[in-house]
Amino acid sequence: MLTLEKVCAGYGRMRILHDVDLTLGEGEIVALVGANGAGKTTTLRSICGQLKPSSGTITFNGSPTTGSRPDQLVREGLVHVPEDRALFGTLTVEENLRMGAWTRTSEQAEKSLAEVYELFPVLADRRRQIAQTFSGGQQQMLAIARALMAGPKLLMLDEPSTGLSPKLTWTMLDAVRSIRDTGVAVLLVEQNAKQALAIADRAYVLESGATVLQGTGRELANDGRVRKAYLGL
Ligand code: ATP
Repeated sequence: MLTLEKVCAGYGRMRILHDVDLTLGEGEIVALVGANGAGKTTTLRSICGQLKPSSGTITFNGSPTTGSRPDQLVREGLVHVPEDRALFGTLTVEENLRMGAWTRTSEQAEKSLAEVYELFPVLADRRRQIAQTFSGGQQQMLAIARALMAGPKLLMLDEPSTGLSPKLTWTMLDAVRSIRDTGVAVLLVEQNAKQALAIADRAYVLESGATVLQGTGRELANDGRVRKAYLGL
């Protein structure tokens, strides 16, 4: 579904990604873990069309994404939840959700709305609440739910555990698993390697802008280098 081959990208003359290779298949949760500044967010920006790679290829559903704008990629099913969540703070939960359905017909939007309310009952209970009055965990749920309103084939989540307690992080990751089980593939970027590897089907470790290790979530969680560098063991 998604392939990155030797992707190099950066900001101005500063190159951040060096020959990043990554694949993601249908219905998979793939985690991209790495330290602060390793280039995880830059990888997501390159995939979603915000940043144009200087070389290498990115293919989504068999077509190269190079030159496509983020809004065109959303229409093709590639939807990104940025780390800052980018909610419309003064709008209600339901207004935020409906904004996420800008590519869809009203029938599709109603169907997705019912599905996200089923997945996140707390949002259904508070559908008229103003988004900025939500806690960090609820805002993260809302950001993910709004992305689902676009009907993604691939959902890219940038550090969804930011600002969440470990307990709330597990609740959120359980929801990510449920999303995967509905057939949506997930690319999960996390500094919190322990929890990300626990739910990932496969994972990559990014160091200084290069993918240095890959394996199943379990393989990497048991890898000595990962345990020492990222799990504090
Ligand atoms: P974090 O967990 O801190 O978000 P990350 O692995 O996602 O880390 P990136 O955000 O991709 O890392 O940052 C990689 C490098 O690129 C860092 O050195 C960062 O300072 C730099 N960088 C990120 N965004 C920009 C930008 N808009 N302009 C210039 N440099 C940037």
